[in-house]
Amino acid sequence: MDIQLKNKLLKNDRDYVWHPFTQMKDYEKQDHVLIEKAEGIYLYDADGSKYYDTVSSWWVNIHGHSHPRIRAAIDKQMSEMDHVMFSGFTHRPAIELSEKLVEITPEGLNKVFFSDNGSTAVEVALKMSFQYWLHLGKKEKNKFVFLDNSYHGDTIGAVSVGGVELFHSVFKPLLFDSYKVSSPNPFAWQQKGVSEDEAVSKCLDEVRSLFEEKAEEIAGFVIEPLVQAAGGMIVYPSSYLIGIRELCDEFDIHLIADEVAVGFGRTGKLFACEHAGISPDLMCLSKGLTAGVMPLSVTLSTLKIFDAFYDEYETFKTFFHGHSFTGNPLACAVALENLKIFEDNKVIEMIQPTSKYLQQRFPEFSDLKHIGNVRGIGMIAAMDIFEDKAKGLNYATNKRTGYQVYLTGLKHGLIMRPLGDTIYVWLPLCTTIDDIDQILYKINNVLIDLELA
Ligand code: PMP
Repeated sequence: MDIQLKNKLLKNDRDYVWHPFTQMKDYEKQDHVLIEKAEGIYLYDADGSKYYDTVSSWWVNIHGHSHPRIRAAIDKQMSEMDHVMFSGFTHRPAIELSEKLVEITPEGLNKVFFSDNGSTAVEVALKMSFQYWLHLGKKEKNKFVFLDNSYHGDTIGAVSVGGVELFHSVFKPLLFDSYKVSSPNPFAWQQKGVSEDEAVSKCLDEVRSLFEEKAEEIAGFVIEPLVQAAGGMIVYPSSYLIGIRELCDEFDIHLIADEVAVGFGRTGKLFACEHAGISPDLMCLSKGLTAGVMPLSVTLSTLKIFDAFYDEYETFKTFFHGHSFTGNPLACAVALENLKIFEDNKVIEMIQPTSKYLQQRFPEFSDLKHIGNVRGIGMIAAMDIFEDKAKGLNYATNKRTGYQVYLTGLKHGLIMRPLGDTIYVWLPLCTTIDDIDQILYKINNVLIDLELA
């Protein structure tokens, strides 16, 4: 790109744009990366420099950027119908996608409700769960349970069930009351001398006690299956999820699985719930639903929940929720094509050797002086930076070590986005073993540059 155009764009970015999760005063001090092209697992900036997209562009991309089949699906749908309202009308892409989603998601999820981002899919699940109990005459069942360090989005309902202090505490006066329970975070428990199995039973005991006391007022338990992503890439055992399913059944509480981040193969199975062999009552999907290309989300529900809303014309039993872009045909067509690519290319089979390789190689970082708590699953791998590894001490926050990793990563051709001092990769499913070698080599060089090796 012409240097003058680039400078003008960067100036206008500073003048007009307010970026998410960004302290803008701080942002203004940097010359930011102007991304101009995305192809496969790479992003290219305005100067033509190439970067590995190791975070799948905020955990969304699945088959690589600019996939020819996805492009063709958009073109085809665009030539037929761009958008139409979804209340009182319906259309083929949404119908076919719903049928397919019911087929591939865990048993018992039979109805598909559309929206357009992950937070809203969670918001919808919370509202559905609450209204379900209302229809059954249990209006006091209006609270939700969530895990410490959980993240379910940024809308007010989703923040009310969020457990990341940094993002959520400022909004406390706006939130509804919910119950927070301990996370089965293996590392945090290990620091207290508690083994993984013991941690799971302690955490389940805590939930049981809460349910015994409060089940009458609890509508649902909302959880990120297996990986608490934004809360620090915490990977916890599937036995916890199995235990939560059992407790929800025993105490008549909805299990709401937020697979917005982990859905569509990222953990090595199509859906993370499959690792535990469980079916939730409500399931939220977004990000990878359209292969990471278009904004779309769904909340799937059981027939039991749906049936409580199903009646002759009675307004109070209607689910009053919907958005202008609900069920957007372009996004639905892309999602359908995404699912066809999964099938045609046997993507879940294809990623088994690559994810195994990633999980074998990533722990090599734990040999480094300042690196520990290496963990991962499927195409996700994470590690923490410590000032004193033996004592489990992190660097002072004002050192902004994770941010230095981000900046140094750019110099090495990596797009990374550490969460505090947690460095992670969240790889597109099309990543090859050779790509993994390259990425790990570059990350190692970043750590050497920052004297963290
Ligand atoms: N749930 C989870 C588990 C997420 O990771 C995210 C986004 N990172 C969301 C919900 C919210 O999705 P969105 O950003 O599309 O609103």
